[in-house]
Formats: sequence, C-alpha cells, structure tokens
Amino acid sequence: MLPTVAIIGRPNVGKSTLFNRLVGKKLALVDDTPGVTRDRREGEGRLFDLEFTIVDTAGYEDEDPDTLPGRMRMQTEAAIAGAQVALFLIDGRVGVTPLDEEIARWLRSSATPVVLAVNKAEGKQGDNGILESYALGFGDPIAISGEHGEGMADLFQSLLPHIDGGAFEVPDPEAPDAILKLAIVGRPNAGKSTLINKLLGENRLITGPEAGITRDSISVDWIWTDPSPKQGEPDEEGNIPPLLTDRRVRLIDTAGMRKRAKVQDKLEKLSVADARHAIDFAEVVVLLLDATKGLEVQDLKIADHVIQEGRALIIAINKWDVAVDGSGLFKGIRAALEEGLSQLKGVPMIAVSALTGKGLDQMISAAFDAREAWNKRVPTGILNRWFEAAISANPPPAPGGKRIKLRYMTQARNRPPTFVIFGNRTDELPASYARYLLNGIRRDLDFGAVPVRINFRSSK
Ligand code: GDP
Ligand code: GDP
Repeated sequence: MLPTVAIIGRPNVGKSTLFNRLVGKKLALVDDTPGVTRDRREGEGRLFDLEFTIVDTAGYEDEDPDTLPGRMRMQTEAAIAGAQVALFLIDGRVGVTPLDEEIARWLRSSATPVVLAVNKAEGKQGDNGILESYALGFGDPIAISGEHGEGMADLFQSLLPHIDGGAFEVPDPEAPDAILKLAIVGRPNAGKSTLINKLLGENRLITGPEAGITRDSISVDWIWTDPSPKQGEPDEEGNIPPLLTDRRVRLIDTAGMRKRAKVQDKLEKLSVADARHAIDFAEVVVLLLDATKGLEVQDLKIADHVIQEGRALIIAINKWDVAVDGSGLFKGIRAALEEGLSQLKGVPMIAVSALTGKGLDQMISAAFDAREAWNKRVPTGILNRWFEAAISANPPPAPGGKRIKLRYMTQARNRPPTFVIFGNRTDELPASYARYLLNGIRRDLDFGAVPVRINFRSSK
C-alpha cells in the first residue's frame, strides 16, 4: 500500500500540471479542449525515490461559480479523507484569493497534515504570493513550479516526513549497487522503442496509439548482466567488494516507451517535453542519434539541456548496421558535437544497433561509468595538489597589473560534481581561465564528459 498525497486547490492554480509531472503523463491531462470533464483522478506518483498514490481534485472548471465552493468542499473532503498529507497549492502570481482562504479553513479543520506550496513560482514570479501565503497559517510555504519542475527537491523534503514514516526508506543513491536511473532520449524515429525493447529482451512496452491515456508506469526496472564486471577498490580494512555482475537499471519514461501521440503534428513538440521530463528523473541520459540522419539542431538542444540540468550524458549512434562510411560518420558527429557545444568535448560516443544489439552492453557499461564519475567526491588532498599544479603551470591573469589570486579549492557537492574556488577578484577572471580549470578537472581527475561546475568565491 502506497501512501497518498492529495493535491488541493482552487481551479487553475496548476493542480493538473503538477499531477502530470508527478505521475509522468503529459498528453493525457493538460487538455485545452473546453468541456472536457475531469473527475478526481488518482495516479501513481514518484518524486525522486518517493512513491505514492496521488489524488488530484481538478475538475470544476465549468462549474457554476455559485455552487463551486460547495462542490469543491465535498471533493476536497473526499480527497483528503484517505490521504497522509494534503498538498495545498496556491497560485504565486495571483496571490491569496478569498477562495484560497476558504479552502485553508477547511484544511485547518481537518486532521490531515498540510504542505503549502506556492505554484507558478519559476524565476522570482511567485515572490508576492509567497509572502501573502504566510497568512494562511500553514507555516513556511515552499515555492514550486509544476510546469517547469522547479522546487521539486523542496517538495520532496516537505512531503517526506508525512509519507515516509520509516516505512518508505529512501535508498542511498550513491551506493555502487544503487539502481541506475537511465533515460533514453532522441528525436522521433531515432529508434528509442526498438532499443528499449531490445534491452529488455521482450516486447512488453506499450506501443499502441492509445497507450498515452492508459494508466501505466513511468519507468521500468530491469537487470543488466555485465559481461565484464570490474573489480571495485578494497575499503580501508582491505575488504574487496563483491563483483557487481547483475546490475539494476531503471529506464525512465520517454516518448519511445509509450507512443502516446495520436495527433501526428504534436509528436515533435511532445518528444522534447518528454525528453525533459525523463531527464529530470535520470542520472544518466543516453541521447540516441540516427546514423542515417546525422546530428541535427534538435539533438544539440537536447544535449544542451542535459548538461544544463547537470546530468551525465552519453551519445549513442543508432542504426549502425546501415551506416555508410562508419568511421567518417563517427568523426563527423564528434566534430559537430564539439563545435556545437564546447562542454561536449570528450563525451562518450558509442555506435549501436538497436536491431542487432551491437554496442548495447558497451553503452550500458559507459552509463554506469558515467554515473560513477557523476557521484564521485575527490578527496581534498588530491584536489589541492591538482589545483596548485594547475595554477603554477598557468597562473591566473593580472588585469590592470594586479594578479588575481586563487587560494584553494573544495568539492562542494557531487551529482553533478561542483567545485568552489576561493580567491580574490574572482569576478574579473576571464571565462577562458575558468574553462582551463574546468577542462583540467575533467581530464586529470577522470570526470570524462560529466558536467562539472565551478563556482568562484571572492573574499573581497
Ligand atoms: P488546475 O485547474 O489547478 O488543475 O490547473 P492546471 O494544471 O490546469 O493549470 C492551469 C493553468 O496554469 C494552465 O494554463 C497551466 O499551464 C498553468 N500552470 C500550471 N503550473 C504552472 C507553473 O508552474 N507556472 C506557470 N507559469 N503556469 C502554470
Ligand atoms: P522511436 O520513435 O525513437 O521510438 O523509434 P522506433 O524504435 O520506432 O524506430 C524507428 C524506425 O527505425 C523503425 O522502423 C525501426 O525498425 C528502425 N530502427 C530502429 N533501430 C534500428 C537499427 O538499429 N537499425 C535499423 N536498420 N533500423 C532501426
């Protein structure tokens, strides 16, 4: 039995949009066709590793305004009756309305705990609503954007204590044997469905046109058997870790997993939205190219988005079985990638055939390696030795005759690896110097093409 989260709020605050994001069904729901009746819906939601049943009370859009509050109250009470927590949404751009205040009164009189979220808060757009929302009496609100996926980590933190209760343990995502969250994205016809079917070894994906509106899961878990497992490093006591041969992989929802577009002209647009959604939930993203088509602008857009989101990226060139002049093609794509996006220098590129299975083990193996780099924390000692060498080999410039000083460096976080360099006048540091350091970190500290970030902090 999964815990239940009820999304509560007046019409138009963004309940369906958030529901869709958490459930992973985009096409099925946000429908601009007037007159579409939407009842209270339930779905299986997932936020990072948290799984829950989610109830959405959207569906009053066409109601008579005079009877709306009464109907809403009934719906709300029914929804929260069985819920572990009520997620109360308000619209941060509009601020608190009388109807919001009324809903707040119902919620306060019920025993269900309430998490208050100020939606549509992308950028700073919800700031007003955030301040106003304190008056509703639910404590600190969280700022989210259901549409843009912002604030999802805060949402996770706020929901966790209500629905976890110890029973829904969040596994350590950094453990070497943790399930690999992998998304396979690419333009329509790149071969995503074929690839996923081949990987799973059976035709269990829904590919019919009606798939989008059925209640199916947003991901599929499977076991990949590594044909040449690597031996991990012994720990401090000299214990050698077990060989990881059977490795768990979670394939995250992509357009290829469920061909949900009925309307052909929506396909292109959806594939980008779907890719974004899948990328949100993935650790490693495989961008599938079509060898018969080469690299196109849209591929670069997706790659850029993956890097911006800090996910590790792998390029797989599919349909290698019918590629003409393989090595020329490979070099050409590599050059075009690097020219299109400097961060793609050194990105792993693998030739595959979803049809024959060629290169697929290599691709998954590269994905595990990429995750390892993405998870990595470099010990401070090693980092500082590297930093001193890098700075003495090529000292920072001296704009206006005064040398910029960089003093020390630390890894602030991983997933993606993020470094902080302390010094003075770091705001005057040219981008080329930052790039020098970034490329050095990637090359010398074995980050491959995992997106690495550096922040500079000035003491003055
Ligand atoms: P519901 O009636 O509460 O289910 O609201 P919907 O999910 O149908 O959203 C109402 C409108 O708000 C739609 O036009 C959405 O596109 C928009 N919307 C939803 N979430 C956001 C958000 O996070 N930011 C912005 N700017 N608009 C949003
Ligand atoms: P999706 O839209 O990305 O899910 O692409 P599909 O999996 O539906 O594949 C599109 C077309 O490419 C289909 O006709 C597949 O049979 C074909 N295809 C997919 N992978 C390969 C491959 O590795 N080699 C060849 N020759 N054709 C492929």
